Amino acid sequence: MRDARQSRLHPAQHDALTGLAHRGCGHARLEAALARARADRSALALVMLDIERFHALNAALGHAAGDGVLQEVARRLVRETGPRDTVARFGSDEFFILLARLDSATALADADRLVARLTREVDVGGLRIPLRVRAGVALHPDHGSDAVALLRRADLALRQAKEGHSRLAVYESGHEERQLRRLGIVHALRDAVTGGQLALEYQPKLELRSRTIEQTEALLRWRHPALGATAPDEFIPLAEQTGQIEPLTRWVLGQVLQQMRAWRSCGVHVGAAVNLSALDLSAPDLPTAIAGLLGAHGVEAHDLTLEITESALMHQPDVARAGLESLHALGVRLALDDFGVGFSSLSRLRRLPVDELKIDRSFVSGLCVEGRQLRLVRSIVDLGHGLGLRVVAEGVEEIDALRVLEDMGCDAVQGYLVSLPLAPDELARMCRARHGGRRTVLRAGASSAVLGSRAAARP
Ligand code: C2E
Ligand code: MG
Ligand code: MG
Repeated sequence: MRDARQSRLHPAQHDALTGLAHRGCGHARLEAALARARADRSALALVMLDIERFHALNAALGHAAGDGVLQEVARRLVRETGPRDTVARFGSDEFFILLARLDSATALADADRLVARLTREVDVGGLRIPLRVRAGVALHPDHGSDAVALLRRADLALRQAKEGHSRLAVYESGHEERQLRRLGIVHALRDAVTGGQLALEYQPKLELRSRTIEQTEALLRWRHPALGATAPDEFIPLAEQTGQIEPLTRWVLGQVLQQMRAWRSCGVHVGAAVNLSALDLSAPDLPTAIAGLLGAHGVEAHDLTLEITESALMHQPDVARAGLESLHALGVRLALDDFGVGFSSLSRLRRLPVDELKIDRSFVSGLCVEGRQLRLVRSIVDLGHGLGLRVVAEGVEEIDALRVLEDMGCDAVQGYLVSLPLAPDELARMCRARHGGRRTVLRAGASSAVLGSRAAARP
């Protein structure tokens, strides 16, 4: 039997499929509920809810199955809410729920319980379909008292829940500012290359056996006149999501090869690594573009390393592997970056054409005493060597960690202990000083134990 909240509505106010109030009616009820809550100083939770992978489900099982899921979600929502609450259908698979409670804590706890109870299988024509939802919550009075602001904030929280793969996210102050900054970054990125706002820094990788610097990693730096310095961890994912990563990667590759040429002409022979994103691997013309750049700058292919994170490879493993194979055929070196946090299977790892494995810095930080972490890192080093790979540890900040890694047979280390990422001329100066036989101490606290030979380090 239909609930009063579904059946008593005028046809123009309700959604024919689910019998729920539609968007316009939901708005009117929000205004009315807010007026009541303001008058009696009570609270409201506005929940925006979205069915995960609904479009994929529609495409795979047909619209009738999709409709069945929407109707069941509507029924569950009505069953789990009270007579003072409102449930409305906002868009194709988007629902809006308004919970009126005495205080915010209760409203939030009830919203959480409601969303948890929705996550059960749905029976559609005898087929059990798993149902997962994402929800964003904004509260009155905590997050605002006007309908438009509350709706926007619940929507921002929903986006947060989707991005964080969490069932429910609550609006946090600062959300809008962050959103505005992200919009600003996406907009400004378009001119970053042509506006000359990008630069590269190079961080050396120290070979543990010879204590020489033969490889570096190029790290992108962006300074925008209004946004200020923006970290790659912030702008690279946005560039990937908005289709702007390709020109950035091409710019980096061009600059790095030109830089290697310039270093060689002043007697510094050092290799460099460029970070690729998963999307770069699916660009069919990337190998040709790299071959062209290597030829134009007269750089040997094996002096260029391409780093790709383990998690990026897991995204579309077959596309990524095909991309890696065509790059490997050029003779460039390939490194698996941030290894250990991406859950790649051993069988997949065995088939990847990579040369280097970079242990993620989360495993390296604080590495000194015998224990689980140390045993884990030792197994990664052994695993890498077992697969015939060179193993590099990232994020080495402590001399004790360097010694432990050296004892394990790790091939090279990269981290603030050896050097911060450097401007190209500083990097050249460091290499020249080292290979000229002088000892270089670039960072306070770094000692001969880091840059000198092991014999010098240990009396
Ligand atoms: P990544 O490739 O793993 O690079 C290493 C990051 O660790 C760099 O951060 C580096 O500055 C930082 N790091 C180095 N040593 C230490 C240390 O001892 N301690 C700590 N805490 N951090 C250390 P950065 O430059 O902020 O870059 C972050 C990430 O952004 C990179 O991680 C890479 O995934 C991405 N990235 C940077 N440049 C590019 C680029 O040109 N293209 C793409 N696609 N991604 C890039
Ligand atoms: Mg890297
Ligand atoms: Mg890394």
